[in-house]
Amino acid sequence: MNQIIHQLKKSNHLFLATHANPDGDAIGSLIAMGLCLEALNKRITLYNESSIPAVYRFLPFSDRIVQDFDQTNSYDTAVILDCSDLERIGKAVSFVNQIHAIINIDHHITNTNFGDFQIIETSACATTEIIHNLLKDMDVSINKDIATAIYTGILTDTGSFRFSNTNKASFEICEEMVGLGVNPYNIAQHVYGTYSFGRIKLLNMALDSLEISLNGLLSIMTLTRDMFYETGARPEDADGLINYAKSIEGVKVAVLIHELQKNYKGLKGNKQFHVSLRSNGTVNVAEIASSFDGGGHFNAAGFSIESTLSDLKSQIVKLVDKCSVS
Ligand code: 5GP
Ligand code: MN
Repeated sequence: MNQIIHQLKKSNHLFLATHANPDGDAIGSLIAMGLCLEALNKRITLYNESSIPAVYRFLPFSDRIVQDFDQTNSYDTAVILDCSDLERIGKAVSFVNQIHAIINIDHHITNTNFGDFQIIETSACATTEIIHNLLKDMDVSINKDIATAIYTGILTDTGSFRFSNTNKASFEICEEMVGLGVNPYNIAQHVYGTYSFGRIKLLNMALDSLEISLNGLLSIMTLTRDMFYETGARPEDADGLINYAKSIEGVKVAVLIHELQKNYKGLKGNKQFHVSLRSNGTVNVAEIASSFDGGGHFNAAGFSIESTLSDLKSQIVKLVDKCSVS
């Protein structure tokens, strides 16, 4: 932590990035860290390869996050947030690799320890929990904007304090953020209370696609490109749908197969499926995702793959079978 604080303080121009197709924790971390560095009078670039999902555009300074940047700029330090490997940021990898110092701040168990400095806290409920502690150690005061970003990261990564990563710090930090002016109802309304009509129609098709294994331990939900086309839903509208598959009584592992649009960001080669995995605490889905070159947490992980739908399903069924027997 001290080495990282020293590195941040001695840098003038910093490049901050999170994973493509960002969630609330990725965006919250980027904004909280960015605002902290601006408070220290640093020049910053906030980068994400994807555009910011509509539900997160209420976040203060979300319009400062850029999809393109001037590659001739020189940076002292790159800060990579909420990424278990550097490739998760997408096509900016080669640019970032040329930056003198890379700081890696994350909470995934599959983190590859990339970079020159790391804070990997797998017990942290969200990357914004780690950022909160970093800000305290740096003596940066947390204003309402930073508090909103930190709160949103914890709220979304814990699934509103329901997932198994919810810990004491989740409540303590969020209580502190509410004390600093965060309005929980407003944030919940933005994140969970304002879905597009397309998303609700997609939900209907997603529920209709549910399949369950004979032993009842595995559920699979499938979203095809046609479903997005028919409903007008955006890729980000798939977020959270897997929780329906996971909530079925008796299910140990839930899978959401998402056929991606051709222009989908953050993918190498011809991978056309993103697969999300969730478990009820009895199966390490990060291990399953890693075997497909992905990663994540014990109970929530993902990977992308080039395959046919039927091959993909049978590979998943075999792997999950092996894991739930052992
Ligand atoms: P989701 O299924 O919601 O996309 O992601 C669940 C968790 O797995 C998140 O923590 C996410 O960062 C991680 N994850 C999802 N896809 C990938 C991937 O392709 N590679 C890695 N390393 N992690 C992933
Ligand atoms: Mn996270």
